[in-house]
Amino acid sequence: MTAGDQPPCTDGSAQRLDPRRLRQRMTEALTRQGLGDAAVLAAMAEVPRHLFADEALTARAYDLATLPIGKGQTMSNPCTVARMTTLLQLSPGMTVLEIGTGSGYQAAVLATMGCRVYTAERLPELYERTRDLLRRLGYTDIVPMLGDGTLGCPKMAPFARIIVTASGPAIPGPLIEQLDEGGIMVIPVGESGSQRLKRVFKKAGRLYEQDCGPAAFVDLVGDHGWQAASCQTPHY
Ligand code: SAH
Repeated sequence: MTAGDQPPCTDGSAQRLDPRRLRQRMTEALTRQGLGDAAVLAAMAEVPRHLFADEALTARAYDLATLPIGKGQTMSNPCTVARMTTLLQLSPGMTVLEIGTGSGYQAAVLATMGCRVYTAERLPELYERTRDLLRRLGYTDIVPMLGDGTLGCPKMAPFARIIVTASGPAIPGPLIEQLDEGGIMVIPVGESGSQRLKRVFKKAGRLYEQDCGPAAFVDLVGDHGWQAASCQTPHY
């Protein structure tokens, strides 16, 4: 063995823990489930998901599972990320608004696909932690914002794509207004236990809504979401 070689791995554990291999296995598992188009899976094979997970959960970062990130919030299951990102029909260069930064993983996948991402988080602690992480990892095409994302971001509107990763009672009006002509929004709507994932197309000033099946997200809390006091989940 020469200097720099990996030590022999008798129990296979080092191989199991190599993030690149784990990502490859994750994308293979998603492919078997028919989730994610080629461009989305290529991005997910690049983004170091283990660095976005809570340190105590690093080993589970590539499981097809939703993981807690503190403050009662979660990092979406890779299945959900693959499904939502594919529904967005992205092209490089698009401007995307994300509501619900959380861990920053979804934003990193969008940026890796060549999009410019504005992402809003309402909880200061998560906002600060993720802003610092994204900066450290060099995601210069992601602009983290602190505040109520149900109001959108009028200054930077319109957006070619909008993705909302928390579920409210209805599609927030400001987000509909800020969706560009020809744009697509993917958003869960409804109470916990009976949420539906919706895809909204804006064509010739009209909205077309498509039901994309059941969903399970944390609450969208804000002026055009749930009121903090009447949240579906009592974390606040
Ligand atoms: N996209 C995230 C998922 C995070 S969970 C990821 O990849 O990890 C949803 C996040 O939405 C939570 O962090 C929650 O605090 C945030 N959120 C809920 N209501 C919000 C609102 N009105 N504006 C901005 N963020 C909101």
